[in-house]
Amino acid sequence: MPLQAFLSRTHIAYFTMEIAIRPEIHSYSGGLGILAGDTARSCADLDLPIVFVSLVSRAGYFRQEIDADGRQAEVPDWWEVDRWCSPLNAMIAVEIEGRQVWVRPWLYLQTGIRGNQIPILLLDTDLDQNSKEDRALTDYLYGGDDTYRLKQEIILGIGGVRLLRALGFDIHTHHLNEGHAAFLTLELLNRYRVAPEDLAPGEELYDIPEVRSQCVFTSHTPVEAGHDRFAYDLVERSLPAFVDPPTLKKLAGADSLNMTRLALNLSDYVNGVAERHAETTERMFPGYRIHAVTNGVHLGTWAHPEFAALYDAQFPHWRHEPEVLVRALQLPEDAIAECHLAAKADLVQLVQAATGAALDPEAMTVCFARRMTGYKRPLLLFDELDRLKAIAGKYPMQVVIAGKAHPRDDEGKEAIRRLYALAAELRGQITCVFLPGYDMALAATLVAGADVWLNTPLPPLEASGTSGMKAALNGVLNCSVLDGWWIEACIDGVTGWSIGDSPGDAAADGQATSELYDKLEFTILPLFYTDRAAWRAMMKQSIANVASYFNTHRMMRRYATEAYLR
Ligand SMILES: *Cc1c(COP(=O)(O)O)cnc(C)c1O
Repeated sequence: MPLQAFLSRTHIAYFTMEIAIRPEIHSYSGGLGILAGDTARSCADLDLPIVFVSLVSRAGYFRQEIDADGRQAEVPDWWEVDRWCSPLNAMIAVEIEGRQVWVRPWLYLQTGIRGNQIPILLLDTDLDQNSKEDRALTDYLYGGDDTYRLKQEIILGIGGVRLLRALGFDIHTHHLNEGHAAFLTLELLNRYRVAPEDLAPGEELYDIPEVRSQCVFTSHTPVEAGHDRFAYDLVERSLPAFVDPPTLKKLAGADSLNMTRLALNLSDYVNGVAERHAETTERMFPGYRIHAVTNGVHLGTWAHPEFAALYDAQFPHWRHEPEVLVRALQLPEDAIAECHLAAKADLVQLVQAATGAALDPEAMTVCFARRMTGYKRPLLLFDELDRLKAIAGKYPMQVVIAGKAHPRDDEGKEAIRRLYALAAELRGQITCVFLPGYDMALAATLVAGADVWLNTPLPPLEASGTSGMKAALNGVLNCSVLDGWWIEACIDGVTGWSIGDSPGDAAADGQATSELYDKLEFTILPLFYTDRAAWRAMMKQSIANVASYFNTHRMMRRYATEAYLR
């Protein structure tokens, strides 16, 4: 079995509903999956003793198609599982609704910079042994209704723990990447059930401290809808009498099963994904100690090839020790300018191929690419069209937009329609294009090819954000509301720009809009067009201050020493 080499050394298991392994593998939807993928890549580079567990999501999240009026259609996004992964000869069953649902893993080996590998297991129920309905349980990431979702989370958490054991892993630490994986704690409770003869009256049925000592939980969102809740009658139908019902209610909430609460109560170490987010989470869930480990990105994955070559030449060890990028101030400015020109040319070409629109390679290009949903405020840049047109009349400006709306997020879909209409309305004054199908590959071109990376979420709802970190690595300057990671990274006028002067400032739409327009008109655009040397100096500051710190190598070294090796 190809796993043999990993069994004795691997003691940490990372559970995640989604993971962006490579563009051809569609088992991710957005930021959470990208983070999991970047985490796996850093773990492989650092040779950590870890295994990743996720679902195979054969039909992906969805492929985004948009018609001429800006209406989004969601198309299944099947991928070739057997082209990228090998089947493992092991199977376990989980009882769901009284039926045995069989689960089998696919193995993907993630190779690190020094050639060493770590295993990623993708769980699959598309097996002859299963009913037609159960075979489809690992098809659609975040698809279907609550019942489908609940079953997927059962397969991930309970199925994942059982499979690791069946394969021969001896896991000491389970890392729950978001609450989706919290059912793994129930499987562990059963493993540490106190024998009836040892049970004193009034004592817990389970060794809860033991379970807690084995679990690490990372929470990823302050948005209420991001925390899964399931009705107890639904849970009871799917998982009849799996754990003692009063214990479950004590751990997961009295009224409905809250996956975040379950994870909080059964994890010894809990963290948010930026300092601000940890504070917000402590306020949302009083009584829990929430640590902060700020997210990062895997630099080797997100550096444009020209920048990667420059870093390879100047800082040979940057892929292992990204901190050396702090010396980016020594980079020759024309080398940086050339790398950026190449990255921007790639973007111009991609926009041409995808939409037929011709971007001007000399004009300042603002990119806004993120999930299309209310709190990200995708329309904020266009709130006062006359002012925007007047600014663009003084200084040419072009805008590239991308992002998917969740199939049930009508507000997000409406924003896409509105953006299409705005692009048509602005034609001739501001070139504004929407690129369908935001994914890992498209993101790589956008984060390197833009001049300015725009981010306008409603504070404090952006837990961290990572796309701006990818941009900074490529010398692209961030202009963002002070929320999430940017609070820690922004030195206004040095590493990029803030919208508003202090965290929380840009909460009201009108205020955020006028501060954004002021920044563009009086600071960003004049600098771009009249002081190229100062702009390039900022590009270097961005690389030195942002990329050297906001990377998944630093992040995983922290998880390893503070969360895993307690
Ligand atoms: C990096 C990335 C994200 C997450 O970035 P945010 O800043 O949180 O929006 C989402 N989707 C894709 C495809 C990405 O590459």
